[in-house]
Amino acid sequence: MKLTHLQDKTLLYDTKMLAGIERETTLKLLHHLKEIDRRKLYSDLKYSSLFNYCVYELGYSEGSAQRRIVAARMLREIPEIEEKIENGKLTLSNITLVNQYIDKTSERRKVLRAVEGLTKRECERKLFEITGKEIVPDEIKKRISQDKIQVAVVLSEETLAEIEKLKDLLGKDLSMDELVRFMAKEAIKSIEKNKFKQTEAPKSLSPVAVGRRIPANIKREVYKRDQKCVNCGTQHRLNYDHRVPYALSGQSNKENLRLLCFQCNQRARIRAGLQNIRGKEQLPAP
Ligand SMILES: [Zn+2]
Repeated sequence: MKLTHLQDKTLLYDTKMLAGIERETTLKLLHHLKEIDRRKLYSDLKYSSLFNYCVYELGYSEGSAQRRIVAARMLREIPEIEEKIENGKLTLSNITLVNQYIDKTSERRKVLRAVEGLTKRECERKLFEITGKEIVPDEIKKRISQDKIQVAVVLSEETLAEIEKLKDLLGKDLSMDELVRFMAKEAIKSIEKNKFKQTEAPKSLSPVAVGRRIPANIKREVYKRDQKCVNCGTQHRLNYDHRVPYALSGQSNKENLRLLCFQCNQRARIRAGLQNIRGKEQLPAP
């Protein structure tokens, strides 16, 4: 696109107009994300979260996706910010900062008014002034070789003391990588044992499923078979789900059970008409 022929006045006018159109489009996009989030529709495309949908389906960078999701959810929580996003008084960055610093909706409403028209830096200063909270930077990840990523995290003194205690108990001089891997492995083992009944020596076999409760051996077999969400493939927040819902006389047996993540489970419930989705609007028939 060549613009060299444009007069200065026209160039400035057009640019301002385009910025307005861009904000209008962003607002429309936020409304669409809000609705997709409400229906958990990304699960139908086998994404485990709205974030993954934004990054992998829509092609946003991680930061852009995060800001849009926060703003879309804030729009649901505080609809009156719509006009301010459209006229540029509230930016997605500032909405994200307010979300990070303030927990209560009533307070967010007040603080969002206070940061209208501010730059990101001014907004950070204002939030620090209002809350007195320390700025906790997001975890910083940087790839330093093909298989190594440098991660900068902020830990409290209490956490550091616990880590030192663990090192003493292990009595080995482990690198931070080895230590974190050890902690992750132990945590996974304990969660698998408690939640998914994974054990090397199961005590008894095949009690018959009674009611909604899923017997340990069935949980074990389903977990062993599925290992992850059978819809989107994530291993995050897994639950046992009845294919034919229990409320519709579905059995708690291996054939009728599957592992689904929290989001896919919610979507399945919405599709089965078992769950009222948030918001007043009606869901159109599939
Ligand atoms: Zn899933």
